[in-house]
Amino acid sequence: MQEKIYTIPVNEAFQSGDECPFCHLEREVEQRIIKYTLGPGASYMEPEVRLATDKEGFCGAHFKKMYDFGNSLGSALIMQTYFVSMFEEMTREMDNFQLPGKRSLFAKKNDQEESSLVRWVREKQSSCYICNKIEYNMERYYSTFFALTKDEEFRSRVEGTKGFCMRHFLRLMEVAKDKVPNDQREWFYTTVFRLMRENMARVKGDLDWFIEKFDYRNASADWKNSRDAVSRTMQKLQGIYPADPPYKSEPR
Ligand SMILES: [Zn+2]
Ligand SMILES: [Zn+2]
Repeated sequence: MQEKIYTIPVNEAFQSGDECPFCHLEREVEQRIIKYTLGPGASYMEPEVRLATDKEGFCGAHFKKMYDFGNSLGSALIMQTYFVSMFEEMTREMDNFQLPGKRSLFAKKNDQEESSLVRWVREKQSSCYICNKIEYNMERYYSTFFALTKDEEFRSRVEGTKGFCMRHFLRLMEVAKDKVPNDQREWFYTTVFRLMRENMARVKGDLDWFIEKFDYRNASADWKNSRDAVSRTMQKLQGIYPADPPYKSEPR
């Protein structure tokens, strides 16, 4: 069995009643990492953390979450040293840049190889310290999930969940090929497909009723489970929590 630091949160997530237990785990991990990065422990002042953030940078979504979290000086210091290697690399790429050949009417669009500069910028733009840390943890959660499927109690817990969002369903299917225990293969695919079918239909029903409620004839009818149907549907489709308030550092 895996270490407890992974089994406890996985077990918890599968009892949370969330539209997707992996969204639940991911949100927890993401907040923990944001707090670790910018929070009171000030790990951004530690050389090895700064080395990593200098190298990996941040994606736009996580810059926004860092901004919302609220330690502006921390973010400023992180970005200040990030610039050092960024400038160096950018200058090198531009110095080595070869002017592209003149465009010819007859050349095919992709005839010219992509420049190293374009590859470099793209890599820079898509790399993120927080995304990488989330991915590292999620990998372990998926492994733990598949290890736990050998346990009957856990299996029945899974059967009682509300399924998964599309983003994590994709990941689960990708990982399953190599990780699902041989004797749980049939159980796994049957259960997950049933959960996906039933729960996507349920959420679609909630969404339908949400729309129906705008009909004046239904004005006094009960909302049933539809009040938050829009945010739950967005979660089911993309694995996000649009209704979440920004995650902020606690006032000290
Ligand atoms: Zn999800
Ligand atoms: Zn990111």
